[in-house]
Order: sequence, then C-alpha cells, then structure tokens
Amino acid sequence: QTPLWVQELDKYKASKPIEDVAADLGLKPEDIIMLVANENPNGMSDKVKEAVSKAVFSLNRYPDADSYHLQKAIAEKYGVPQDWVVIGSGSSELLGLAAQTVLSVGTTAIYPQYSFSLYPMVARLCGAETIEVPATDDYNADLQAMLDAIDSRTRLIFLTNPNNPTGTYLAEDDILQFLDQVPPNVMVLFDEAYVEFLEPALQCDSVEMVRRHPNVMIARTFSKAYGLAGARVGYGIAQPELLSLLNRVRHPFNVNDLSQIAALAALKDQDFVKKTLEVNKEGIKFLTEAFDQLELPYMGLHANFITVRIGSHADEIVDYLLKKGIIVRRMRSYDLPEWVRVTVGTPEQNERFLEVLKEGLNKFG
Ligand code: PMP
Repeated sequence: QTPLWVQELDKYKASKPIEDVAADLGLKPEDIIMLVANENPNGMSDKVKEAVSKAVFSLNRYPDADSYHLQKAIAEKYGVPQDWVVIGSGSSELLGLAAQTVLSVGTTAIYPQYSFSLYPMVARLCGAETIEVPATDDYNADLQAMLDAIDSRTRLIFLTNPNNPTGTYLAEDDILQFLDQVPPNVMVLFDEAYVEFLEPALQCDSVEMVRRHPNVMIARTFSKAYGLAGARVGYGIAQPELLSLLNRVRHPFNVNDLSQIAALAALKDQDFVKKTLEVNKEGIKFLTEAFDQLELPYMGLHANFITVRIGSHADEIVDYLLKKGIIVRRMRSYDLPEWVRVTVGTPEQNERFLEVLKEGLNKFG
C-alpha cells in the first residue's frame, strides 16, 4: 500500500520527487514543510553524521547479521542480556516479524480503534483475521473490551503507548492488570515508538513487563526522538524464547551497516534527544495555546504530534496547506474527517503552519 504521506502528495497529483512537487507549487524544496510522518524536525545528531561518514568506505563488507554492537549497547542500556534484544529495519519490520511469528490462517489479531495503520496490514498479510476494538470516548484503547475480544483463535494483540494518532497514553497499573489477564499463548506487541516523548513520571517500566511476561515484546524506534527515520532502525525487547522464534523469520543482515553505525552513535548522543524533547515541548505549548484561542479541540499531547479538530472543511483546508507546501495528515481513514494530525515542527515551521492554517480557516471555515 502506498505510504499515507505519498497519498497526500498524490492527491495533489504529485507522485514524484519532492523537488518536482515544490517546483509545481512554485516553491523551493526547502520550503516544503513535512508535518505528516512524525519525523524529527531537528535533523539528525552531528555525532551520527561523523560516525557514518567515517564508516562509509567499508561497504564492501556485510554488516553484522544481528547488529551485534547496537544490540549489545541496547541490552546494556536496559540492563537485560543481549539475547533479549532484536534489531529491525525500523520498528515496522519488527511488527511484521511478530505477526509472521505467531499468525497464520485461522488465527486473529486484535488492535484498538485509532491505532497505527500497519497493525491490520501485517496481520492480514499472514492470512489472519483482524479485530478492531472500539476505543473509549476519550479516544484511548479500551483495555477491558480488548480482553473481552480474546478467544481461542487470538494469537496477537497490538497495544501502543503513547498512541498514534491520538497522542493518548495508558497508565502503568492498567497495562499491568491487562497483561495479567492476557492468556500466555497470546503475544502482546507493546509498541513504544513515541515513548521518549512521554513525561518520565508517566512512563511505565516496560522492561519489567517483559521480565514478568514471556509473551510480551516491546518495540521501540530510532525514527522519532533519535531523528533517524531514513536509516530504518528499530529494536525489540522480549524474552529469548520468544525472540528465538521471531529470529527464525528475520532475515540475517536485515539492518545495513551504515544504519547500525548511525543508530549506535544516536543512542550515545542523549543530548540530541534532550534537545528534541525540549523543542517538542515548546512546540506543543505554542500550538495548543493557538488552538485554544481558535477554539479548536485536540486530543492527547503525549507524543510529537497533535491531532486537532479543524472542522467540516478539513479536506479543503488540508488542500490549501498542501498548496502552500505544508503537508499534514488527514484523519479520513480513521473516520475522523474533521480532524488532522500535525507533527510538531521547529518553531519556524509551527509558526508558518499556524499562519496558513488560520488563512485556511478564514477562507473555508
Ligand atoms: N509504531 C507507531 C505507532 C508508529 O507511528 C510508527 C511510525 N509512524 C511506527 C511504529 C514505525 O516506525 P519505524 O518503522 O520508522 O520504526
């Protein structure tokens, strides 16, 4: 399936490189503001640039098949043995591998309404049926309803914290109670792609969950807070029995050498992550103050994006933003046609987005 941001561009008749899109719009490529894929607006860490430029001349060699050094560094960071860690080509690959490990024709996978579009996709590719469980009134996962949806065919549950696209989070006690009730033959993929953005006091001890539950795998990524979406690196933490099954469907050399080196350098540069979190926090403050003034309701604020209700003319307003080079995410596919999801950008990008949003609201609102 075509990535969603490409669909956005397609709608503007632009299934072509960003340079050409910009030219069509009478803009320069650097004027295109991508607030559509929850990427890091701060670019990438200088330490990563340095490490990758040193490594770029050794591409005659295969990479380490298990991303040994990165795996080791992650194991050390979380205080788990190295065989509790798996590295993937983005956490997307790990979601797919989890599905391939436990799903087949005749099984089902459960996921909450308003969650990452890849969950049902990877499950169906394995021939499994998917069950979308309606969210609570405040757009959060309904954990009790998800438990009620489990039957003898269930093999996989996707849960996200904090959640995309709602920005909501789940309390640790609720997650622990939930996990205690999931049958041990059902795998839980606990997707923490945005966890770094969650206030530390609200973060749960997910590694401890993995220790307690051999059926749980957490998935994290270098694509968001670490600013490496283009490198495609994610990691999973689970007990070795589960990972040994998952590793049977994982290709060796699944993460290329430069990406392994980039992620290792990124992991060591926590100052970059800290700066990212600060910029994000300020951006959320700036945007929500403006949304409050405009009386636009928004959902949770626990990640690096805001899903905001801009009204019944949302489609026209998104088209208007696109014409001005600002790409945000429609929520049509979630049956929320009046909402859009906007990635928090740099201060300049946020200001420009807001300026054009206001123009759009005046024109169509
Ligand atoms: N999980 C969630 C909830 C996401 O929003 C995303 C990316 N949008 C991913 C996983 C996958 O990210 P990646 O493959 O880049 O690690």
